[in-house]
Amino acid sequence: MSLAITVLGSSGMYATAERAASGYLVQAGGRNIWMDAGPGTWQNLMSIIDFEAIHAVVLSHVHPDHTTDLFQAYHARCYGVPEPLSPIPLLAPEQTLERVAGYVGGLDKTFDLEAVSAGRTIEVGSAKFAFFAMEHPVDTLGARIEAGGGIIAYTADSGRTGDLHALAKGSDLLISEATLQDQDGSWSGHMSASEAGALAAECGTARLVLTHLPPRRDLEVSLAEAQGASQGIEVELAEDGHRYEVGEGL
Ligand SMILES: [Zn+2]
Ligand SMILES: [Zn+2]
Repeated sequence: MSLAITVLGSSGMYATAERAASGYLVQAGGRNIWMDAGPGTWQNLMSIIDFEAIHAVVLSHVHPDHTTDLFQAYHARCYGVPEPLSPIPLLAPEQTLERVAGYVGGLDKTFDLEAVSAGRTIEVGSAKFAFFAMEHPVDTLGARIEAGGGIIAYTADSGRTGDLHALAKGSDLLISEATLQDQDGSWSGHMSASEAGALAAECGTARLVLTHLPPRRDLEVSLAEAQGASQGIEVELAEDGHRYEVGEGL
């Protein structure tokens, strides 16, 4: 058994013609977990699995670039089948659950709403999700996912003072936001590619994938800036549809 993650969206802040906004498919032990549901990620998810095969949804925070495609799953699972499908877990910060449940009535018929917070660990099948507090204007959780001897760390959206070292220490794969480039200066609640590179080096992660990438920018600059700070750790840009596998293998 192994742990796999497929990038469903890698654009920061909004979807572009080339990239959906934030979202990932985590697969372990035959379970499919949709982590962050930014615009465009539903369509990419549906090119990989059927909506009846989603076992759980995890949302890092309420911002629209991470959540709005959740309502596609609601409609499909509630109205796209002869009988509504049994609810599946929806794990998110309490603030996020309150807001998304306020957008449509009956969301709790499709999802079992379960509030999570920093310090909690939840098992979805054989995958263990540990949540950490990130630095962002709203309650935001990063996820450290372990299964099959592999570890994937996902920062969601965070500035440099999030609980990032606990999140990413010794991970096989660090999927880090890299919203900014050095020329941008600092923006509270987000990291630059250089900061993501430095984080990977500090945490001894094996491989760094940059995501939440800035639209309308030369992303080779982001890649070069991260590489410059990562002390030789392998760095790449997230690409929608790309699948990574860590752990013991099949
Ligand atoms: Zn975002
Ligand atoms: Zn955000």
